[in-house]
Amino acid sequence: MMMLRVFLLSCACASVLAMPSAFSKDQSLENEVHSYNFPFVTREQWQARSPVKKTPLQTPVPFVVIHHSYIPAACYDKEQCCAAMRSMQNFHIDDRGWWDIGYSFAVGSDGAAYEGRGWETLGAHALHFNTVSIGICLIGDWRFEVPPAEQRKTAMALIAAGVELGYIKPDYKLVGHRQVRATECPGDALFNEIKTWDHYSPFPNSHLDLLSVEEIPDFVKEAIRNNGTLPV
Ligand SMILES: [Zn+2]
Repeated sequence: MMMLRVFLLSCACASVLAMPSAFSKDQSLENEVHSYNFPFVTREQWQARSPVKKTPLQTPVPFVVIHHSYIPAACYDKEQCCAAMRSMQNFHIDDRGWWDIGYSFAVGSDGAAYEGRGWETLGAHALHFNTVSIGICLIGDWRFEVPPAEQRKTAMALIAAGVELGYIKPDYKLVGHRQVRATECPGDALFNEIKTWDHYSPFPNSHLDLLSVEEIPDFVKEAIRNNGTLPV
């Protein structure tokens, strides 16, 4: 009886001691991925290539930039959306010469969020605005129609998750890509739609306003003045 008691106690001690290592940093990040309240597809799951290089993003960021992909077209299941992610990544690395897919995340018409550069890496989605923002691409051409409800809902839930995880400031501003660069992105229909979303900000109104955006760091403003380039 005594022997058994000792045995049980030592078992209890062992499992208590084992606890901390069961919650390693990687594993807790993994747990965060699984705690999203929408389908989330990791880079591994869509078979991303490794980034050429990475620069850390300073968080929490004050802005979220919404994009559409235009090409590839909207995707409606995991297989199509994973293929869209791979084609965007190939285009951005091989044709644009960037270090990885440009967006922080993308969202498909299947209602799933797809991991791009993620929360902690500087994106290449909005020239001169990457250091202060997370870029979310709604896969598809949204010039004439708005993305399906599930896709819009997941994009909003992803932003809310970013705030909750501390990567996006609670008082963040939401803008369309055309507000920081001369581009039609994110398409007229989607742009009109995001004007109704929480935190939409009409400022900046165009790339000509960038020097007046107080959150943009001086080295980036210097690059804007000199027409310089920044890491991509
Ligand atoms: Zn864009």
